[in-house]
Amino acid sequence: MDKKRKKLKIEQADITPVCPHCDKEIEKLIEVSRGFMSINRVFCCPYCHKIVGVSSGQ
Ligand SMILES: [Zn+2]
Repeated sequence: MDKKRKKLKIEQADITPVCPHCDKEIEKLIEVSRGFMSINRVFCCPYCHKIVGVSSGQ
């Protein structure tokens, strides 16, 4: 529909991600497995255990 799509420039940088909930720098994420039939993978902050990302698929 919209022919003038804005292209998003992606820049790679060596930064440490910060949790949006507790503002702590996180170098790893906790992956929550909700049952063996779970489709979604849920990633949590290791400090506050709040969800920072959800990935669907395997
Ligand atoms: Zn956090």
